[in-house]
Amino acid sequence: MIEEYKWFWEAFDQYAQKNHLKNTSQRKLIIDCFLDSKAHLEADELYNLVKTRGINVGLATIYRTLNTLKAAGLVQLRLLDDNRNVYELVEPGFHHDHIICTQCGRIDEFSSSEIKKYQLKVAGNLGYFVKYHKLEIYGVCPACHK
Ligand SMILES: [Zn+2]
Ligand SMILES: [Zn+2]
Repeated sequence: MIEEYKWFWEAFDQYAQKNHLKNTSQRKLIIDCFLDSKAHLEADELYNLVKTRGINVGLATIYRTLNTLKAAGLVQLRLLDDNRNVYELVEPGFHHDHIICTQCGRIDEFSSSEIKKYQLKVAGNLGYFVKYHKLEIYGVCPACHK
């Protein structure tokens, strides 16, 4: 177990126990692939990644695993404007936003306390309490505009 994801496996084991999920080594391998990628992946991208590791599972199993993680609140599904459905890890206490390349689809993460502060101000001026926000910036990445 990679120390970095100790919190993840603890949370997942708790969820699995509560919901009487059987522990399968296949699922663990799929999740390991997902965590190692540290990326925003579509289900079929994860499927290909899992395959390159020589693990033989069907796409349906990948979806099932991702849905389990989603139900456990450990993974989030995002529908991007370019129609991709990407899954990403939900890290407790860590919020980030995304900037996405409209040409190659690259996704970068950023976190800005200024934007956060400004959003609170804007919402406050309109009389809102902020629960959460979601920000996606679309643009052309350095590799695509040179
Ligand atoms: Zn690009
Ligand atoms: Zn992200």
